[in-house]
Amino acid sequence: MKNGVVIVGAGHAGVQAAASLREEGYDGPVILIGDENEPPYHKPPLSKTFIKDADAKPQPLRGEAFYSGNAIDYRPGVWIDRIDGGERRLDVSGGGTIAFDRLVLATGSRPRLLKLDGAELAGVVSLRSLADARLIRELSAQSEEVVILGGGFIGLEIAATLRAAGRRVTVVEALDRLLGRAVAPAIAAHVRQRLEAMGVRLLTGTTVARLEG
Ligand SMILES: Cc1cc2nc3c(=O)[nH]c(=O)nc-3n(C[C@H](O)[C@H](O)[C@H](O)COP(=O)(O)OP(=O)(O)OC[C@H]3O[C@@H](n4cnc5c(N)ncnc54)[C@H](O)[C@@H]3O)c2cc1C
Repeated sequence: MKNGVVIVGAGHAGVQAAASLREEGYDGPVILIGDENEPPYHKPPLSKTFIKDADAKPQPLRGEAFYSGNAIDYRPGVWIDRIDGGERRLDVSGGGTIAFDRLVLATGSRPRLLKLDGAELAGVVSLRSLADARLIRELSAQSEEVVILGGGFIGLEIAATLRAAGRRVTVVEALDRLLGRAVAPAIAAHVRQRLEAMGVRLLTGTTVARLEG
């Protein structure tokens, strides 16, 4: 396989796919493509300590030696625009192509953004990437009051973290309880109690009509 395996997406799945290829004895070319200009990093800390601690550093998924030592050609800052399956070729945004013999799509997911009036206002952000977390850290350091839309794991983690850092925090959740897609009602009730004891204001069964600047 002269062009080898190309992996698009350098998150947990993409990096592990590269590692597993080597662990299982594949010795052809491996190219790992990520659109972010960062060494691949752990996402879980982003909604926890990272957003409140100005000195917190991103936690790399693997050390630099992993990529060089395993002949994994990591290419950051590259966005793939198009797959040409017939020609076995990827089109790179801004120009250029990358040929592959086998292609792994590990492109993850993105937050579902709100289609609401005001969703584009300054200070309205979502959290998925390290860049998002840096922005939230910067904005929340200058804010007294934070509203979080979404009472799932990530929303509640941000709520607890920013409340512990002294912000006034309100969570708005459309369903009639927290963590509705993730845990049983008894656990959700316990989490609710813990957050309220910290001083987080929780509005369940509540939707947002628009955001006003
Ligand atoms: C804030 C936060 C906290 C979390 N906390 C936890 C936790 O506590 N426990 C837990 O189990 N899970 C947690 N998760 C979920 C976990 O991080 C994800 O399940 C995991 O990141 C999924 O990995 P992935 O590689 O599939 O996708 P991703 O991490 O999304 O990686 C995909 C990568 O592909 C890139 N990409 C997409 N399209 C293209 C393209 N066309 N060209 C180039 N690159 C592209 C994306 O930009 C991204 O960098 C958390 C997630 C977030 C965001």
